[in-house]
Amino acid sequence: MINFLPLIYEDELFFSVISRYKQICGMGSKRALEMDLFRIYKRMGRKSVLFPQYLDTFVSNLPPTSKLSIKDIINKHTMHPFYTSFFSWEKTQLVFNAMKKGYGRSIENMVGLAGSKVKSTNYLRYCPMCFREDMEKLGESYWRRLPQVPGALYCPIHKVLYKDSKVVITDCRNDFYCADEDTCNTELMVDTNPIQFKLLNLRYLENVSYLFKQNVNRKDLTFIINFYVDRLRERGIASTGGTLYIDRLIEAFLSYYPSDYLELMQSVVDIEQETNWLKRFVRNNNKNRSPLRHLLFLQFLGIDVEELYKTNSTTGKQTIVHNRTPKFDIEERREKWLTIIKDNPGANRSELKQIGKGLHTWIYVNDRDWYDHVTPRVKTRKQKKDSIDWKKRDEECLGLAKSAVGKLLRAEGKPIRLMPSTIRRTIGVTRWFNHAKLQKTRQYIEEITETIESYRVRKIKWAIEEMINQGEKLTVYKVQLKAGFGGGNKEIRETIASVLREYK
Ligand SMILES: [Zn+2]
Repeated sequence: MINFLPLIYEDELFFSVISRYKQICGMGSKRALEMDLFRIYKRMGRKSVLFPQYLDTFVSNLPPTSKLSIKDIINKHTMHPFYTSFFSWEKTQLVFNAMKKGYGRSIENMVGLAGSKVKSTNYLRYCPMCFREDMEKLGESYWRRLPQVPGALYCPIHKVLYKDSKVVITDCRNDFYCADEDTCNTELMVDTNPIQFKLLNLRYLENVSYLFKQNVNRKDLTFIINFYVDRLRERGIASTGGTLYIDRLIEAFLSYYPSDYLELMQSVVDIEQETNWLKRFVRNNNKNRSPLRHLLFLQFLGIDVEELYKTNSTTGKQTIVHNRTPKFDIEERREKWLTIIKDNPGANRSELKQIGKGLHTWIYVNDRDWYDHVTPRVKTRKQKKDSIDWKKRDEECLGLAKSAVGKLLRAEGKPIRLMPSTIRRTIGVTRWFNHAKLQKTRQYIEEITETIESYRVRKIKWAIEEMINQGEKLTVYKVQLKAGFGGGNKEIRETIASVLREYK
């Protein structure tokens, strides 16, 4: 039995409460503490900073006067509400029970955090100004939940960057450390991000706070996807029937979010990739989606997350087409369309569209897969092709590509990655530039394209040189900020450290 528990602060992590308890009791041994609180220690080897378990044992150990319930702990003092926000009720409850009764394995696995591309931070994070104010007002500080959310970059109260403390989250053998002078300090981080990033991020955090503090609802994934399809339809990014115009979506998404911001949010959309996360995200599959990405997507749609939970019905992909038009009607239309194709050999899609105007629209909207299957693609360009001197054009394009690369390399500010899309954008051309007959150009672009690693190194070198020019002190951390990398990525830190060695 525990005689007392320290007063719990708002948004305080359960881990933090235990750490303060340990410090107040002056308990040296972590094992004794775990025995004291949970009457177990072997199983606690699996304990986690973000998702504690065996909470029923813990609560039954509290003095009878204590009003602290398991529900309060899980909902107000762990990451549970955030990571289960986009789960069904059943799954949410499952995670809840695992934390209550103990699960034996990590909850991180259960909520999909372990296998996700969106990682949580490696260190407990905090706001240096909150820390200072706590010390002044309370004489102590504590770990909050909000800074531990992936993609939480700024403190919403002080509008300054969150930073890593010295406490590693990911090592489960870790001790209970308090947020104090040993682990935190009041030094502010240098913010080199454009102001737009801060605004985007504070908006993101408003939605996160809603999930933590107010949201008690859950929606099934199918409902959520349908909700997205409806909103995309309103914006002309999905057809009436609910078919998504993926290219349009990607274009709109990338013009809403700067790519450097997406990098900080661990959600870069690589348009060169056959299936990037955004494409998979809007498709109706059962894959786990990080809550971060749901919030990114909603923000892009200009919708508060609250609206999603308050919506009661969705349409999604429309399958009611058949009610309006009996099946034989489809067959009839298909037959007519096939006749048009047959009667106009060699016609391309836009010519066929002209010929079968109304019919084309109907089939295109309501019977798209079939349309794609039977309708021939462009194949009547032979004459044109012959008239093009590909060799000459290849030389011209190669020249354009080279000067675009030069331009990109000389550009002021943070380096831009050399890759087909950025080169094309610099020249101001579209995908035709990738034509198979432009052999030399293609080869050149392929050779010059930077891997993500070499691009990182270039960004790091740029940051270092900028800092040298401005007479700033070089530390891994400062370089990381200047180059615009988010905190907590060990791989990047190591790269920075090794590049820094070249300068020393
Ligand atoms: Zn703060």
